[in-house]
Amino acid sequence: MPEPRLTVALTFDSDAVSDGIRRGDSPVKLSHGEFGPRVAVPRILELLERERIPTTWFVPGHTLVTFADNTDAILGGGHELACHGWYHEDLSELAGKAQRKILERWVEAATQRTGVAPKGFRAPYWALGKKTLELVLKAGFSYDSSLMADDYRPYHVRLDDRHSMAKGSTFGSESALIEVPIYWALDDWPHFEPGPGRDGLSAPSKVLEIWLGELRYAYAHAPGGLLTLTMHPECIGRGHRMAIVERFIAEATALEGVVFARLDTYLEAWGRSSTAASAVDPAASATEPEASSA
Ligand SMILES: [Zn+2]
Repeated sequence: MPEPRLTVALTFDSDAVSDGIRRGDSPVKLSHGEFGPRVAVPRILELLERERIPTTWFVPGHTLVTFADNTDAILGGGHELACHGWYHEDLSELAGKAQRKILERWVEAATQRTGVAPKGFRAPYWALGKKTLELVLKAGFSYDSSLMADDYRPYHVRLDDRHSMAKGSTFGSESALIEVPIYWALDDWPHFEPGPGRDGLSAPSKVLEIWLGELRYAYAHAPGGLLTLTMHPECIGRGHRMAIVERFIAEATALEGVVFARLDTYLEAWGRSSTAASAVDPAASATEPEASSA
């Protein structure tokens, strides 16, 4: 089978009320989170089933066990389950031991559900402590999706970079942990949800223009690459926003050689082609994604 010209990964962070209850949010804010599991998740899964699109879901442990029907439906639809904290914690604020406990608790709960060890991790708020990714690797995950040093190419994360105002920067060696890069413009939340320093509530047409711009650029300039969108059910699941997801899928499908895939599926093929390239010609590995700042 020929390599796809471009792979698109639709990823969903199903935060629901996990962060709201930790923060002690008001009933109104909690109800905003509840819209996810109650309305948006079934709505999104129905669209994905209709379009036969496999996707990756980053689900906090609280969401995973509290909204078990959603979890069953996600798994039943053939989608990938990946870690997103337990109560959507800001891991940069926690000690290493507390972070490790969250990761272990999540892995245990997810493995019980799926019967297989999970592979993916995305930091809640995309917030990482200095040692978080080391702990993620030690917890058995093979990839992270919280960094921005590339756009259409996965890369290996360096865990031992050193930065000093006096001595400058020393970049460490690549670890086994693979990064699936993300970016704010490719995330629904900053566009649509009000927050500090922004109004949110963008017109969906603006977001569609940005996402299609990325799709067409990646299609033209990053053969074999991966375009990853980050969406939150409670945000993207509103009717006027679902309309742009449908439109985005239609535009992507119309391009010859574009496929949709789960992140674990894409990375499996990416790993195989990286290994094959270095086996045939060591110099060929230079064409693989280069080390980037983590
Ligand atoms: Zn989240």
